[in-house]
Amino acid sequence: MRYVRTAVFSNVENLLTYKTPDAGPEKIGCRVIVPLGGKTATGLVLEVSDTADIPVEKIKFVRSFLDETPVIGPELIKLGLWISDYYLAAPGMVFSTMLAPLFKITFKKIVRLINETIELKGRQMDVAEYLKDKEHNEAPFSSMEKDLKISGLHSVIAAMQKKGILEIEEKESFKGIKKKRVKPETGAQDIAAEITLNSFQQEAVDKIINAVKNDKYSTFLLFGTTGSGKTEVYIRAAQYAVSRGKKAIILVPEIFLTPQVTERFKKVFQDRTAIYHSGLKPAERVHEWERMKSGEADVVVGTRSAIFAPFDNLGLIVVDEEFDSSYKQESEPRYSARDCAVYRATLSGAVVVLGSATPSAESYHNALNGKYGMLVLPERVSKRPMPEIEVVDLKIDANKSNGLFLSNNLIKGMQDALDAGGQVILFISRRGYSNYNFCMTCGKVEKCVNCDIPLVYHKAANKLKCHYCDYEKPPALICPSCKKPIAYKGAGTQRVEDVITQFFPDKRIKRVDMDSMSDRSEYFNVYNSIKDREIDILIGTQMITKGFDFPEVTFVGVVSIDTVLNLPDFRSEERVFELLMQVAGRTGRGDKPGRVVIQTFNPQNPAIEMTRKYATAEFYAEQLQIRKELGYPPFGKMMQIIIQDENGEKAFKDAEKVAEIIQKTIQKEAMKMISILGPAEAPLSRIRNRYRVSMILKSKNAKSLNIIGRAVKQNARGLDVAVIVDPVNTL
Ligand code: ADP
Ligand code: ZN
Repeated sequence: MRYVRTAVFSNVENLLTYKTPDAGPEKIGCRVIVPLGGKTATGLVLEVSDTADIPVEKIKFVRSFLDETPVIGPELIKLGLWISDYYLAAPGMVFSTMLAPLFKITFKKIVRLINETIELKGRQMDVAEYLKDKEHNEAPFSSMEKDLKISGLHSVIAAMQKKGILEIEEKESFKGIKKKRVKPETGAQDIAAEITLNSFQQEAVDKIINAVKNDKYSTFLLFGTTGSGKTEVYIRAAQYAVSRGKKAIILVPEIFLTPQVTERFKKVFQDRTAIYHSGLKPAERVHEWERMKSGEADVVVGTRSAIFAPFDNLGLIVVDEEFDSSYKQESEPRYSARDCAVYRATLSGAVVVLGSATPSAESYHNALNGKYGMLVLPERVSKRPMPEIEVVDLKIDANKSNGLFLSNNLIKGMQDALDAGGQVILFISRRGYSNYNFCMTCGKVEKCVNCDIPLVYHKAANKLKCHYCDYEKPPALICPSCKKPIAYKGAGTQRVEDVITQFFPDKRIKRVDMDSMSDRSEYFNVYNSIKDREIDILIGTQMITKGFDFPEVTFVGVVSIDTVLNLPDFRSEERVFELLMQVAGRTGRGDKPGRVVIQTFNPQNPAIEMTRKYATAEFYAEQLQIRKELGYPPFGKMMQIIIQDENGEKAFKDAEKVAEIIQKTIQKEAMKMISILGPAEAPLSRIRNRYRVSMILKSKNAKSLNIIGRAVKQNARGLDVAVIVDPVNTL
């Protein structure tokens, strides 16, 4: 008999052991169908051995193997186990995330009443009555569990099955695509341009190439100002890796950016370029996954999940705009693709290039202290000047007549740029708290009844909508607080679009945000129409700030940034700096110089002041100093625990239980120097009708936090608790 240790695709914390008469090590990395607590589940075989690790009589048989050959190699198995261990995620959840493009089999247990003549009593009668009401006298077991709420339903049904009253059938269904493969739309156009590297680029490429040549792990920070030609460095590095028979993964933070980057890579790698992001349809994902797996592609351009690309001989991983929070998955498994890149590279002896004009303080610190190699591109290509940045103090210089806080300087800047034939980008921050629908008389902000965050006014639908849940309501005509007529104003993207349309009636204006974009083909259309100069003014949120290279953009206006500044999070200043530097970096990328106007109520804020002066080194020095004093990353490890419940008091009570588990663990393990903040109301205190209580743990010792997190997960069963390792925000 052989025993297979299996990650079952379900929220089970440990690997499970099953037996099978004849499986050998060739089955490692194959999917299996196995019984799981009276149900059937799919899983992935991670180990095969001759001996069992638990009493043999308890071990169940494998039902069948799904794959002839492994769908996942040893390196990705190691990566998955590391993710499971480090981020405290169930192994089956991790591997099912990794294998998401492959079809999944789900099983439904159908219970059918076949004999009504036998006399029944008690719970058996309830079951029979329930089935009698159903079509064909049958129902899925899962619905019966939900509807009947009978304790021990399993054994009741088993007993009835024995007596011949019921029969049970398992129905398989495929989720996702089994056979069909479709080539995805990339949004990329054909481009042809020969580029000669400048000396800074050349030096960076040389260093990366040397490292790739060594076949040994190393990581570089490519710290290059906006427009310094980082993408060209990535391409040359990938070219070298591929010339040595290796593969390259190129991660970008945003689907919207994939056409541009894909375009540039396709120029070099043509059809051997794969794309991979969450916007692909299942059939397209399978298509690209199989091309990578079979060796038909050398390079993949993709978002977060492309870090799991099924390449065997990996030589290079690029993480572009590595600071971006989208690299962290916000649901289980809560991995950071950037940190996984570094770990995966250590497994395969690959080189990692983390690129950005505004690296995270963590990566910057690692480069300063020599953990990463530092590569600097200090100037823009062709010695183009950085755009001039002007900061407008809204307290003084607001053109209040239009009620929208659009300053004269900003409108004037736009006008000048458009008159000269340039394109304009307007940025509006919409993350966090802001007064999208405040009463102009008393300042009252109407909030979501479920989530306690401000509602956003949607003009097209004439509704107030919540951006966390689907709550919506008609806008009130009278302010609920001061009873005066209410005016719906504020700097939402839609409102800005309306006002800008009035100012520039003959210009082609496009608004880009979550509401105006329904699918990725729209992103691709917008990308291409900006490039083809069919849009004069682009208005948008965070998603338009990074990466784009449109040479005709000569003016960038920052309509609002203060809402980000006011977020109660230790990274909020870093985020402001990144956003402003990045969005400013979208202009002056062609032959004409660029200009930037930033509007704010806080012109003296260091993040804004240092952006204006391009005082990058100074900014990081200050940030790192603060972080050091408070033990924030990179000077300490951090873990956040979020406890939720519909009832606010219960959420706090549950949090107290969690706090107790933490204290007990600390005592038991005699841990020192763990600092604990909270339990306290989370800044986003209610989402989807659930109250959120937060605890933050800091320590120099990652292992200690890992042990505590594990203890919380194991002992807080039944409570709604999320353990977030290395959180990117603490909201
Ligand atoms: P970054 O990612 O650093 O902001 P990009 O890689 O987008 O910058 O490059 C900016 C622009 O400069 C692109 O259009 C690119 O084709 C061009 N470019 C890159 N390197 C050079 C070079 N050595 N000479 C001229 N143009 C270059
Ligand atoms: Zn809501």
